[in-house]
Amino acid sequence: MLEIKNLHVKLEEEDKVILKGVDLTVEAGKVHAIMGPNGSGKSTLSYVLSGRDGYEVTDGSATLEGEELLDMDPEERAAAGLFLAFQYPVEIPGVGNMTFLRTAVNAQRKARGEEELSAGDFLKLVRQKAKTLKIDADMLKRPVNVGFSGGEKKRNEILQMAMLEPRMCILDETDSGLDVDAMRLVAEGVNALRDENRSFLVITHYQRLLDHIKPDVVHIMADGRIIKTGGPELALEVENNGYAAILAEHGIEG
Ligand code: ADP
Ligand code: MG
Ligand code: MG
Repeated sequence: MLEIKNLHVKLEEEDKVILKGVDLTVEAGKVHAIMGPNGSGKSTLSYVLSGRDGYEVTDGSATLEGEELLDMDPEERAAAGLFLAFQYPVEIPGVGNMTFLRTAVNAQRKARGEEELSAGDFLKLVRQKAKTLKIDADMLKRPVNVGFSGGEKKRNEILQMAMLEPRMCILDETDSGLDVDAMRLVAEGVNALRDENRSFLVITHYQRLLDHIKPDVVHIMADGRIIKTGGPELALEVENNGYAAILAEHGIEG
């Protein structure tokens, strides 16, 4: 599904290298987790995959189902089936949540050469998805994320994800700032979307989200690279012992 090879990235404005050769393959239907200390480059990886400005790829590739993502603009990446949920969802005053969702869904359909959804079909779809995620009608009418609690913002992102039906979902610290109930709801939303044709890359600083979203594979990222890969037990090892021992094995200062 997603294949990242030898990815090197620096800041556009400065001579600062952030990603130093990331190699990562996520198979269809699998959930991979990336853990790692603060500042290791996890968010940068998700930004670069989404096509955010400010970063320069100096080497390597990232393909989605064989197509080079790094050559596409952000809209093309979304149309190709990539979805990213970020640590800090943006607030969009003046734009109703429904309008936003409808615009996003129809932009994606247009980019894929499909017809727009009718107002009726869209409404049916959004209500059905919102119900399964326990999002009430009021939240659909309010401006995007304005005045939403941390938990509501995250649930709203999962709703966006459910509406867009992406192939490859990347969640960057979707658990940060959530209480246990909100986190469980987000995890349930993700688990409901798990499917043999859809893959997830779950980026998290802490292990607790992975109690609810069981990963198939766990990677540890440090100093701009994946330094260790294992099964779910690797997340527990980090939970119990911290990152220090793994970093020391690789000669990286914590
Ligand atoms: P993580 O998500 O693992 O905490 P980040 O990808 O946010 O790590 O950051 C990796 C490193 O790159 C950090 O040292 C961070 O300070 C630096 N960095 C990332 N983006 C920028 C930027 N736009 N300007 C300056 N430094 C940045
Ligand atoms: Mg960080
Ligand atoms: Mg981060």
